[in-house]
Amino acid sequence: VTIFLTPTQVKQERNQWIQLVGHDGTFKTGIHDGYILKELCEHERHCCKLLQNDLLKDFVPKYNGTVQDEEGKLFIEIEDLLATFHEPSIMDCKIGVRTYLEEELDKSERNPEPRTDLYNKMIAIDYLAPTEKEHEEKKILKSRYMIWRESLSSSQNLGFRIEAIQKSDGLMSKEFQRIKGHNDVKKQLSEFIANSFPRAIQYLERLIKLRSACIRSNFFQTHELIGSSLLFVHDENKASIWMIDFGKTRLLPNNIHITHEKPWIRGSHEDGYLFGLDNLISILREIINE
Ligand code: ATP
Ligand code: MG
Ligand code: MG
Repeated sequence: VTIFLTPTQVKQERNQWIQLVGHDGTFKTGIHDGYILKELCEHERHCCKLLQNDLLKDFVPKYNGTVQDEEGKLFIEIEDLLATFHEPSIMDCKIGVRTYLEEELDKSERNPEPRTDLYNKMIAIDYLAPTEKEHEEKKILKSRYMIWRESLSSSQNLGFRIEAIQKSDGLMSKEFQRIKGHNDVKKQLSEFIANSFPRAIQYLERLIKLRSACIRSNFFQTHELIGSSLLFVHDENKASIWMIDFGKTRLLPNNIHITHEKPWIRGSHEDGYLFGLDNLISILREIINE
């Protein structure tokens, strides 16, 4: 469905809409109440559409087709998951052991030009990270940089990482890139839940239901989910979780089956989605039992 927007149809007020990560200008208020627009990515559109008829449909935003604005830019119209919350606290957790596609690695290796800017980025975070040779050349390969960057956060060891948190009081933090260890992640989750036992239970139950839907879902069995997030949302009354961001979710090649659990090796397409979900569940259980 393509609907052409006239300026009067574009709602100016942004209600409670909050965007935690991603580039500015990617999102707009939707045409329909309770919906938002996200810049179109064909892969994501396709996934949103498939998911509407999948076992996972209650765990993803409703999808309402595509929309074009006055400048001709295309968007998908998806459910605003914050719409039914009052002054919500939000957390974006990126799931999986890696956040780049194998084809992105392949591409950077086909053009193996070591880069000074990546070397500078690396030493800005950790001066000891480059090898002796890399220090000498003051250059780093893109593929090497991509893999290294993933090892900084909890993505590799826990299969998920906190990308950003916005508390109901408006305080926002994105300083999670280097939070890696089990206990550090647990501390952040615990702070986010803010000592509410019922909230922790609601989150846990939702994750357990999500896990069981995932393993029975046709979509989940046939796709590799990279860079996708779980959006945690709560207010004083309720707490829930949804899967979002399918820009790097891909149909698996015909001959490839993945467990979503086994460690990734090059060519296996494993994404570590269930590994991350299970770690989230067990950390939440620890928080509840303390
Ligand atoms: P990136 O790929 O860098 O993660 P992106 O442009 O693909 O960003 P998303 O990750 O889909 O964007 O969304 C960015 C943020 O916008 C989320 O962290 C969340 O705060 C908010 N958001 C996304 N989709 C929804 C939704 N359906 N309802 C409410 N908030 C949403
Ligand atoms: Mg995202
Ligand atoms: Mg994305």
